Amino acid sequence: MPRFPDSIAVPGHVVEILRQLEAAGYETWCVGGAIRDALLGNSHHPPQDVDLATAAPPAVVRQLFRRTIPIGIEHGTVGVLDDEGALHEVTTFRRDVRTDGRHAVVEFGVELEEDLARRDFTVNAMAFHPIRNSWCDPFGGLEDLQNKRLRAVGDPAQRFHEDRLRILRALRFAARFDFTIDAPTWAAATSQAADTSHLSAERVRDEWIKGIATARSVRQLATLWARSGVAAIWLPELRLEAPPDDLLTSRDPVLVTAHFAAPSAPVWRRFKGSTAEVRRSEGIDRGPAAPPSDEPRAVRRWMAETGAAADDLATLAAWRGAGEAAWLEAMAGVRRRQEATSRAKLQINGTELMQAGIASGPRVGLVLSALLDAVLDDPSLNARDQLLARARDMP
Ligand code: ATP
Ligand code: MG
Repeated sequence: MPRFPDSIAVPGHVVEILRQLEAAGYETWCVGGAIRDALLGNSHHPPQDVDLATAAPPAVVRQLFRRTIPIGIEHGTVGVLDDEGALHEVTTFRRDVRTDGRHAVVEFGVELEEDLARRDFTVNAMAFHPIRNSWCDPFGGLEDLQNKRLRAVGDPAQRFHEDRLRILRALRFAARFDFTIDAPTWAAATSQAADTSHLSAERVRDEWIKGIATARSVRQLATLWARSGVAAIWLPELRLEAPPDDLLTSRDPVLVTAHFAAPSAPVWRRFKGSTAEVRRSEGIDRGPAAPPSDEPRAVRRWMAETGAAADDLATLAAWRGAGEAAWLEAMAGVRRRQEATSRAKLQINGTELMQAGIASGPRVGLVLSALLDAVLDDPSLNARDQLLARARDMP
């Protein structure tokens, strides 16, 4: 039989809030992800954002504490600020009375166990009482945690039907903790994967980004998205033949997505990503992925062609295992020597060309392009007087 530790470290401010709620006559527990994480033991310091679940109705929570913020009042969540200004979430025990697969309508006045029963996975449905040092684990969360198993609370098909986001959460938690998804939970997730099409793009995007940030191996996360059938709906560009991701030097979501999906701009458009995310991934998709040779001149021309995407493309090339490619070295040299690879880096600009009487109108752009062309071949030409002389000689 798995055994709970005698206690886990809970920040003093959280215990103080819990103590006040109980002094007012309302049972209160520490719940959710922080409890799971403390039991997993991979955090060495006490968790900071321990969520509290309480029998106190939201209005009472708001009266009991000096400074509160109604975070999600219709769902019973009140933010309580401690005397250092840190926010702690206090949520009234609740039951879901109606869902349409996305939005829950909740009802208060229930017991802790019922509140735990509406949570998604057994490892997320445990509660700890830091004053009595007691535990509440009605669904076998501890055992699943020790067996590295992700299992829905209750009937998985029903739970996923209530809220399709739980399917994506399952994939994220499995990849984050390297857990196996329990067979009935997996079967329900795969059979309802197509229904994730009803989720909003923003929620799916958030899950993908959180998943990228927290997965032990993003390839594992991507594999789960593919095998569950979620990728067929939301990420059909996913390619699992991408090289292993132990070379990933960052979890930048645009880069990681481009590492696993080509083209990647359609992904960010589908996800309703920011203009910056869409633009960046368009630059990556446009490429070319690498210069045709590692000659500095070819590398500079490629940098001029790819523009703002050059650094992203270089990072992606390194992740593909081209870490020793000579052109990456050559590119670093171009940057180090601050050689011009765009018109903006020329030692002369259009206004100056016009003031010198050399060009006006559309010709300004043509002259600048020709100057850049020369500088890409020979960086030593990038000096104001030389550029002016050259511009004067142009037909
Ligand atoms: P993370 O470390 O990602 O924050 P977490 O477990 O704290 O993990 P949250 O999204 O912060 O996840 O949610 C807090 C808790 O609320 C969860 O542990 C779970 O008990 C419950 N919960 C969150 N989202 C859902 C959902 N869609 N369906 C059911 N329960 C949920
Ligand atoms: Mg959380």
